[in-house]
Amino acid sequence: MITVSPLPAFTDNYLWLLQRERCAALVDPGDGEVALAALRARGARLTAILITHWHPDHIGGLPRLCMEYAGPIYGPRAEAARIPQLTHALEDGDRVRLAELGIEFEVLAVPGHTLGHIAYYSPRERLLFCGDTLFAAGCGRLFEGTPQQMHASLTRLAALPDDTAVYCAHEYTLANLAFAQAVEPSNAAIAAEIARVRGLRAAGRPSLPSTMERERRLNPFLRCAEPAVAAAAAAHEGESAARSDPVQAFAALRRWKDVYRPAVT
Ligand code: ZN
Ligand code: FE
Repeated sequence: MITVSPLPAFTDNYLWLLQRERCAALVDPGDGEVALAALRARGARLTAILITHWHPDHIGGLPRLCMEYAGPIYGPRAEAARIPQLTHALEDGDRVRLAELGIEFEVLAVPGHTLGHIAYYSPRERLLFCGDTLFAAGCGRLFEGTPQQMHASLTRLAALPDDTAVYCAHEYTLANLAFAQAVEPSNAAIAAEIARVRGLRAAGRPSLPSTMERERRLNPFLRCAEPAVAAAAAAHEGESAARSDPVQAFAALRRWKDVYRPAVT
């Protein structure tokens, strides 16, 4: 039995800790001290590190961890030059088997937020670690990739099974839901989710993981082919191309979200 725990770091990051008995793995350890404290508290031994992309809030803990850890560090081959501690460079279609944890991941190339960004999917355990590509009710900013690339990456993730647990790297859910509701005011799933997540956050609990089934129902960035979403995206920019082309709709939505500030309630 494998457990997955969030380790909050910085203002809104989660490092994910996978554990089976006394063996642990970390996903995107941006903060080494946070990771080491969690391992110590659990009496767990670190056996693997998985990296989704090169941004400092995802790899910043590696120098500190490497003072005490000499095991495998997996991450994207395309970003290897920016992740000097990498020991295993991965590409789309590769598999990562973590023997001590009894879990195997498929590597999915999901460019857009960064060009080399990868996600880790376990088909048997139905776990997805998607870094800053897919967020609960949102998606990552396009720092390096094109809208076309990010739309293709999100479409690929959206095809994973309904019961896939979606582990994102940031707690952005309430802000994302506010935007989702601005895009689709009559989507009842969004209103229900706002109430649910407010409850979790008020209790000091993470909103994650989400599920792929839920994301398909309420995440506007996975719903660009929905007429209501495409129409809202087109209306926001006063141009009609987004109405008929999901990539244009995605691009318009992403630009809108980049400048969107929710009304204070
Ligand atoms: Zn990032
Ligand atoms: Fe990040």
